[in-house]
Amino acid sequence: MGLSLYDSASRGIVPFAPIDPARVRIYTCGPTVYRYAHIGNLRTYLLTDLLVRTLRCRGYGTFAVQNITDMGHMHQEQLEAGEDKVIAAARAAGKSAGEIARFFTEAFFRDGARMAFLPADVYPRASEHVPEMISLVRALEDRGAVYGEGGYLYFDVTKAPGYGVFSGTALGEGEAAERTDEGIHRHKKRPEDFTLWLPAEPGREFQWESRWGRGWPGWHIECAAMALKYLGPEFDVHVGGIDLRFPHHENSRAVVLTATGKRFATVWMHAAHLLVEGKKMSKSAGNEHTLDDLAAGPRSGGHGFSPADFRYYCLTLHYASPMNFTWEGQAATARALSRLRGAFRRASRGGTSGEDAAAALRAEFRNAVSDDLNIPRALAVAHKAVRSGIGGDAARALATEWDTVLGVGLLSEADGDSEVNGVREGEADKTPVEVEAMARERETRRRARDYPAADTLREKIRAAGYDVVDAVEGITVLRRMQGPRKR
Ligand SMILES: [Zn+2]
Repeated sequence: MGLSLYDSASRGIVPFAPIDPARVRIYTCGPTVYRYAHIGNLRTYLLTDLLVRTLRCRGYGTFAVQNITDMGHMHQEQLEAGEDKVIAAARAAGKSAGEIARFFTEAFFRDGARMAFLPADVYPRASEHVPEMISLVRALEDRGAVYGEGGYLYFDVTKAPGYGVFSGTALGEGEAAERTDEGIHRHKKRPEDFTLWLPAEPGREFQWESRWGRGWPGWHIECAAMALKYLGPEFDVHVGGIDLRFPHHENSRAVVLTATGKRFATVWMHAAHLLVEGKKMSKSAGNEHTLDDLAAGPRSGGHGFSPADFRYYCLTLHYASPMNFTWEGQAATARALSRLRGAFRRASRGGTSGEDAAAALRAEFRNAVSDDLNIPRALAVAHKAVRSGIGGDAARALATEWDTVLGVGLLSEADGDSEVNGVREGEADKTPVEVEAMARERETRRRARDYPAADTLREKIRAAGYDVVDAVEGITVLRRMQGPRKR
C-alpha cells in the first residue's frame, strides 16, 4: 500500500508522489518566538515530526525546513494594527527584542527535544532573510502585483492565479470583505490585499533599508521567501496549523505562484485545533499549558506528566481531529503508555515467539501510518501485538521499528535509563537533575548544530559518570556508565 495524504488545497486524499524520493522537501510554519510554546503549538509541530518519521520508515529521504519568526506578527490583523509581538514582549520585560527572540528560540529547541521531534534540517530566522524578502517583493513588482504609497506596499490579490483556494470564497465576498480598513491601511484597494512592506516607526529595533525606504516585511512574504530559498518554487509538503490556512497560507501561496509561475507546495497539511477542557486556550483563561505545566500536573495536585505522556496522548487522535485536552484524558493515556511499555518490555525479555504473526502485524502498522498518518490505528496494532503473544527478538524488533515512527520509547527501561527527551519512566534510578540539565542542553546545542558546545557538554556528562547514547534516531538516552568512576 502506497502512502496517501489529505491535501487541504484540493480537499481530498492524494497518493503521495514526491518530486525526488531521496529528498522529500517539507516546509513547516514555525514559532513566533516571544513566549513558550503551548501544547497546541506542540501538537501542530508533531504533525511534521510524524510525517518525517513515516516517510523515513517508508524509505524516503527527507529535507525539512521550519522557520523561526523572530520579529513578531503572529497574525496579519495584529501586524496591520502595527503591533509586533516580539517587540511588545521585549518592552514588557525590559529587554531588547533580539534578547527575547533568542531566549524563546532556545526554549523552542528545548521543547522540541523533550517532545522527541526529529530536528529540521534548516531553521531559518526571518530576521536573517530580509534581503530575500525584498527581492521577492521586487519580483512581484515586476509582475505588476504591488501597489502602495508612503512606505506601505500591498499585494494585489487579483493578480494571483486562483486566489481563494483555502478560503473557498470569491473576492469581495465572505468574512474578509466585511472587515473595515482603518488608519494606516486606508490605501488598500480591497480587504484581501495584504501588506508586503511597512515603514519603520521611530526607535524600531528590527528595520532594514530598501528602495521603498527603511522598513520591515509583512508576515506572509517571510515564509514565502524562506521556503523559496531552501526548497525552491516547487516542493512536496507544506505543514501548519489549521488557523494558518487562511489568510497566511493562501497569501504565501499567492506570492510564490505570482512571482514564479510555479506550483509551490504539492500537498498542504493542516493540524486541527487543540482545546483545553473544551475551551480555546488563552492567556486570560490561564489555560495555555506548556510542557512545564504538564510536568507540574493538574492544579488539584497529583503527579505530573512527561512530554512523552503528552506525545502519546496526541497520538491517540488523528492529526485532523480537533483535540480536547483534559487532565483526565492525559492521565488515562499516560497509564495506557505505561502499560504498553511494560508489555513490550516483558514480551521482549521472553523467548522468541510469534514470528509469523509479526510479519502480518508489521504490514498492518505500515498500512495504518500510510493511510494519511493514521497513528491511532497504528497504536491499536501495537497494543494488539503485545496481546498476540509475540516475544523475544520478534517483540524487540517490532518495538524498535515502530518506535521510529511513534517516538514514545516503547522499550524504555524502568531501571537504569532515564531518557533525555522527557521519555522518563521508573523512579528506581534517579539521574541527578544537573546531569539531566546538561544532557538537555547538549541536545539543544546538537539540534542547533553547535557541535563544539555539544561535545564539551558530553565531556562534562561523562565526568559526572553518565553518558549519552543515541538510542533510536532522534532519541538520546542518558545512561549511567559502568565501572570504577565515582560520582
Ligand atoms: Zn508560514
